[in-house]
Amino acid sequence: MGFLPRRDQGTKISEDQVYAALSTVQEPELGGDLVSRKMIKNVQIDGGKIAVTVELTTPACPLKDEIQADCERALRTIPGVTDVTIEFTANVRRNAGIPEQAVIPGVTNVIAVAAGKGGVGKSTVAANLAIALSQEGARVGLLDADIHGPSVPILLGMRGMGQPEVFQTPGGEPMIIPYERYGIKLISVGFLIDEQQPVIWRGPMVTQMLRQFIRNVNWAPLDYLVVDMPPGTGDVALTLAQSLPLSGALIVTTPQMMATADVVKAIQMFNRVNVPMLGIVENMAYFIAPDTGNRYDIFGTGGAARLAQELDLPLLGQIPLGMSVRAGSDEGVPAVLTDAPDAYAEVFRAVARQLAARISVMAFA
Ligand code: ADP
Repeated sequence: MGFLPRRDQGTKISEDQVYAALSTVQEPELGGDLVSRKMIKNVQIDGGKIAVTVELTTPACPLKDEIQADCERALRTIPGVTDVTIEFTANVRRNAGIPEQAVIPGVTNVIAVAAGKGGVGKSTVAANLAIALSQEGARVGLLDADIHGPSVPILLGMRGMGQPEVFQTPGGEPMIIPYERYGIKLISVGFLIDEQQPVIWRGPMVTQMLRQFIRNVNWAPLDYLVVDMPPGTGDVALTLAQSLPLSGALIVTTPQMMATADVVKAIQMFNRVNVPMLGIVENMAYFIAPDTGNRYDIFGTGGAARLAQELDLPLLGQIPLGMSVRAGSDEGVPAVLTDAPDAYAEVFRAVARQLAARISVMAFA
């Protein structure tokens, strides 16, 4: 720092002033102010210019803009300020309820994406949310554990990739190297089994496969591992729900009543094994005709909202039916990577941010 001319010394801004100003800014979701929450990581003062780094609990924070505006407003009350720069970093925390020995090394949060039954778009939502979280700056993995119908290889355009490579740790343990696609790491049961051979999964096989997924995949470091669960509440789904160190589960449903009835069973399954519910995503919620812009509630309306209210769970978002969502899945380029209006990338991203926020809130609960 150079010598300041004498007359400027009276208006020199101090770090104390910066911290005092920022201590008036509340963390909108978790409560408390940014300073006592130790979210201010770096303060630089250069004459009238202040630069501050704020550490969030997720890079996908939906309230980033609000926090930024509040910090700027607070800092501008300091006499002599000319410029304010707010930068963000993130430190994703783990749900403290998960026992240390169950944690997957280097993986902070494991999120189950589940559904009461097949065909509601669970895999589509899981893949798009995983990529959306990574687009927000998080380190993300996707585990396709839908052992009866692994669809991630198709959704991400990775059919026929064959078995991933394996290396030996210094301790002699085999470690599977996950594939990387669109910024996320991924493993699918589809890569590990022969697509042509139907597999009859029995308890010990599921347990063994699970062990491999948890212990023998080189996932680390990840902020979020999204798990595409088998639909329903059968043995395999239950074994997974019980054995994965889940931070929480997200339920995907469609507005039809039948789908929502099955959803209750899926939620009960997670409740029974003490996995917290992160919320509900309503997929295929409505259709907007591309030619007229008219909205059609093809499968009825309000089912998921009613269910969310009855069960006291957040409805994290509603994803419309979109031709480009379907086309993206078939072509192996998920909707969030395209900008077609009916790919609803922004809707998926908004759901991803809500999900990340909910996980942060739970980690601090
Ligand atoms: P699940 O995993 O629940 O069995 P999938 O994700 O495989 O369901 O989706 C079933 C079908 O519905 C796929 O063809 C997929 O492309 C399509 N789909 C899913 N979500 C949407 C959506 N929002 N709009 C249009 N098609 C969708």
